[in-house]
Amino acid sequence: MIPQLVNNQKNFFKTRQTLDVTYRRDLLKKLLEELISREHQITEALYKDFKKPEFESVLTETAIVIQDLKLTIKKLKLWAKPKRVFPSLLNFPSSDYLYSEPYGTVLVIAPWNYPYQLAIAPLVGAIAAGNTVVLKPSELTPNTSNLINEIVKKVFKPEHATVIQGGVEVSTNLLEQQWGYIFFTGSVNVGKIVAKAAAPNLTPVTLELGGKNPCIIDETANIKLTAKRIVWGKFVNAGQTCIAPDYILIEQSKKEAFYKAIQAEIDEAYSTTPQDSKDFARIINKKNFDRLSKMLVDENCIIGGQTDADNLYISPTLIDEPKLDSEVMKDEIFGPILPVISYENETDLERIILSYNKPLSLYVFSTNSAKAKQLMKRFSFGGGCINDTIIHFANHRLPFGGVGNSGIGAYHGQHTFDTFSHKKAVVKKGNWLDLPMRYAPYKGKVGVIRKILKWL
Ligand code: NAD
Repeated sequence: MIPQLVNNQKNFFKTRQTLDVTYRRDLLKKLLEELISREHQITEALYKDFKKPEFESVLTETAIVIQDLKLTIKKLKLWAKPKRVFPSLLNFPSSDYLYSEPYGTVLVIAPWNYPYQLAIAPLVGAIAAGNTVVLKPSELTPNTSNLINEIVKKVFKPEHATVIQGGVEVSTNLLEQQWGYIFFTGSVNVGKIVAKAAAPNLTPVTLELGGKNPCIIDETANIKLTAKRIVWGKFVNAGQTCIAPDYILIEQSKKEAFYKAIQAEIDEAYSTTPQDSKDFARIINKKNFDRLSKMLVDENCIIGGQTDADNLYISPTLIDEPKLDSEVMKDEIFGPILPVISYENETDLERIILSYNKPLSLYVFSTNSAKAKQLMKRFSFGGGCINDTIIHFANHRLPFGGVGNSGIGAYHGQHTFDTFSHKKAVVKKGNWLDLPMRYAPYKGKVGVIRKILKWL
């Protein structure tokens, strides 16, 4: 069934219908109408899947997709137009262009943590760029994935865009096919499997992965505001956010004040019994609940530390000074657990941060602007913020993606369109002049060409 489906998509691509920008834009408009009219169904599905609060679903899933889709519809003609670039004098006379052409048939594989947004945003970009698309949403969020399937079925012909549901087996089968492009969002380990599957056909890939994101708080930080912004960025989606702060590195003199401020902010946001709060999501499944619970064993949970397996609940938790080789400091946490490690100087910061692979994000809280900028330059990471967490995600002008182990490639806004387009370089040579310099015989020309190249 899957090879047949991929063939149908390839054949549809060959009809060149998707190359018509008006055709793409009309379908995106239809998609927009459908997404707007179903917004409530989408937030309900997300709540059913893991009690995601409606506010968070609107802010981080539906609104962001609608904003992105509106921008794409508005700008598509401009983005898709061949762009004239400044020509090289070496080619004089010429006019030079960049053509955006679709890759063909695109495979999108999405994760469960923002199961709607991380499936629809790449779909929009791939369609906008003129590709056909097979989308595999996460098997761990069946309500949201079923709804995505319904929506895509309603808007697109199956040979243009289709949803295939399933877990590892289906994903593996899909990866065995030959694609024009693969866009994967998920864990580092599966990202490596995707890269391997893409290698035999040299299929280009975007890998949106994860990592251990440091959050540095120096001695000049405004502790109350820092705590407020960290509580939001860490505990939104119950910490199951790829760009959530993974661990805190705090200048030692600030630690006690920080704990007090964090406790106050947790109480303010989720009350003194977060389990009863409607604003705090649940862990996606038992497997992840067990993985996270194991991180709490033998640790000093200075705040929180309560778990309830029946309800897949883990309270907002801070761990004081875990060892660097402890369970919680080994890999990306991806849950509402925040280890706090104090540091004395920048050598400590470097020793700890550089002992991990390049993270997806990094945050610095400091009122010393020069120092904050210097730290931003010192470390390599996908994207980040000074004096806030995760909000870089919201600006479509900023490319969103990782570096090194946290990913390959980036998207959002026009970057998404560009990700799904091959940029074809075209030089249109003028015929009214044909300078003889480059043609053989070369005798006597070396000196002249050297001078010209020096001058250019
Ligand atoms: P995951 O890697 O387990 O699964 C992602 C997708 O890959 C799912 O659709 C799943 O069905 C499929 N899959 C799982 N195992 C596979 C295998 N062996 N072969 C082929 N396909 C397979 O990730 P997840 O648990 O859904 O999501 C959490 C991870 O995703 C975290 O590491 C997080 O940091 C990362 N993430 C990254 C971003 C980003 O934008 N960079 C966004 C969200 C999540």
